[in-house]
Amino acid sequence: MGTAMNAFDYERVATLDELVAALAGDPDGTRLLAGGTDLLVFMADGKLAPRKLLDPKRVPELNGISHNGTLRIGALTRMRDVELHPLVRSRYTALAQGAFEVGSVQIRHRATLGGNLGTASPAADTPPALLVHDAVVKLRGPDGVRKLPLGELYRGPGQTVLAPGEVIVAVKLPEHPARTGSWYIKLATRKAMDIAFVGVAARVTLAEDGRVAEARVALGAVAPVPLLAAEAGAAVTGSRLEDAALAAAAEAAMAASSPISDKRCSAEYRRAMVGVLTKRALRQAAALAEKR
Ligand SMILES: Cc1cc2nc3c(=O)[nH]c(=O)nc-3n(C[C@H](O)[C@H](O)[C@H](O)COP(=O)(O)OP(=O)(O)OC[C@H]3O[C@@H](n4cnc5c(N)ncnc54)[C@H](O)[C@@H]3O)c2cc1C
Repeated sequence: MGTAMNAFDYERVATLDELVAALAGDPDGTRLLAGGTDLLVFMADGKLAPRKLLDPKRVPELNGISHNGTLRIGALTRMRDVELHPLVRSRYTALAQGAFEVGSVQIRHRATLGGNLGTASPAADTPPALLVHDAVVKLRGPDGVRKLPLGELYRGPGQTVLAPGEVIVAVKLPEHPARTGSWYIKLATRKAMDIAFVGVAARVTLAEDGRVAEARVALGAVAPVPLLAAEAGAAVTGSRLEDAALAAAAEAAMAASSPISDKRCSAEYRRAMVGVLTKRALRQAAALAEKR
């Protein structure tokens, strides 16, 4: 870490009430510390200078993965635990893949799912997968609890709709029908430690006759926020993923994207890759759906 980091207080909190009250009491100076893999980097770079960090590791509601039809993942669950969880791997494959794509194994032992959402990077690896699984985020703030479809959490790069004192408690994923598969593909220069040029997730549910009953496509790193490309999913619904249907989905996903050019690659390249990866992710998701 650099030398620019400011001095700060560190405090552990044991309950959600304590956490929310402390954050709401000093919204500008106090920050929730999860794994710290984004927050401490921003502090070391001098981009953030909170006076106090709150460590909520002991708050029970924020921890653990549980299942009762719906899959509930506490916000403090580490990427490594998401990636290795048997139910996530089998029924929410895209999410296991998204978690696996985050940094290195050392990073994934610290980085949390809630932190990946709270940091609101357009290029984060788990939001596209969560979007295709129709994830809902449970929030808790001074005014109580609210639940939002994940797509409504983001306002722009680095910005969420969280009110002062409001925290992400958990992410909930509904149960999908049998014959559902999902897939996430990240395009980056190196496997580890690089953020995505483009990330594409897809989910496909097949009907008895082999046609697509429902499909979702979501995109990362090609818009100010992670994005559900609803028309791309609609384009293959009712099809058998013939070339024409896949081409229509690719077109729709490209149209939904609004990529920028930067030092990594051009907007044109990003948009073209959205098309290629949309087709590939849909095919892979369908191949998994056939096995289930
Ligand atoms: C070397 C390196 C490589 C990386 N590679 C990737 C990558 O490939 N893909 C990728 O997606 N990310 C990557 N990251 C970014 C980072 O690891 C992830 O975004 C991670 O999931 C952040 O989680 P955290 O628990 O460390 O969050 P923290 O740093 O603790 O928090 C991040 C922000 O979210 C807020 N926050 C945390 N939890 C909550 C909550 N429950 N409710 C409300 N706000 C909350 C914090 O206050 C803070 O503002 C990388 C980071 C590093 C340092």
